[in-house]
Amino acid sequence: MKPEKPTFAPPGDAEERRTKPAVICYPTEGISSADFAMMNARRADAKHTARCVVPPRDARCTTVPKGSFFRITCSEGAQVGDLNLWSAANLNEHFYSGKTRALHGTHVSSGDRLWSRFPMLRPMATVFEDTLDWYGWDADGGSVHDVIGTRCDPYTGRLLSGSDYHYCCHSNLTRALADHTKLPLAEAEPFVHDVLNVFMCTGFTADTHQYFMKASPVRAGDYLEFFAEIDLIVGLSACPGGDCGTEHTSDFADCYPLVIDVFENGDPFLETEPSDYDRSHGR
Ligand SMILES: [Zn+2]
Repeated sequence: MKPEKPTFAPPGDAEERRTKPAVICYPTEGISSADFAMMNARRADAKHTARCVVPPRDARCTTVPKGSFFRITCSEGAQVGDLNLWSAANLNEHFYSGKTRALHGTHVSSGDRLWSRFPMLRPMATVFEDTLDWYGWDADGGSVHDVIGTRCDPYTGRLLSGSDYHYCCHSNLTRALADHTKLPLAEAEPFVHDVLNVFMCTGFTADTHQYFMKASPVRAGDYLEFFAEIDLIVGLSACPGGDCGTEHTSDFADCYPLVIDVFENGDPFLETEPSDYDRSHGR
């Protein structure tokens, strides 16, 4: 956090330096936009093939074939989900929330892509439908489905409060991935990564620019649906924060299950190739 009182006096041209125009770091015009005509056609012929219920304060993994759809539904009460994505062929290719944020902004909605980490950097999934897209930006600068947060975890809990809480999203996702892949916990844990906070309402405070959360506007029946751009393992934790209106990393909030439904379209789908950068890095 910046100090309340700066140590150094501003230079004479401080105002001029502060008023330079803001430039978008990564203009996305060069990226091919989501192909809704293709997705709509595939969705029309897709059949419901699987349902995965994520219990409160726990996580589950499910596989989704490329060219199919997966829908995360708030089934009973306001509940936030922490989403991880892995390539089903290679756990090292996983969702890269930081680059997704740099490309699409702090919160995602229909048409935004979820990108994979280096050196692949390709779309893993595309947001197809978002029943909360009406929310937009609230008066505090908050919105839903952020790619800012990391995931609630036992290490930060121990750092800040000295106590252990085992049913946070990091631990939930670790157990779920271990169960799904049959890897030991210690081998599964390093594959768990920064999340997409499904249904969570977050932003940065105007004064200190600290990460804030507020009660999610999600209600039973709302959903966020994705198109799978590659063969995926989808991991989802029903966050112990519930609607994240008060606190997380505890057993105090009301928590509800989340549901993942898979809709498969058997027609062939050609996935996007990984980045064709030659990885010579100047050598
Ligand atoms: Zn969480």
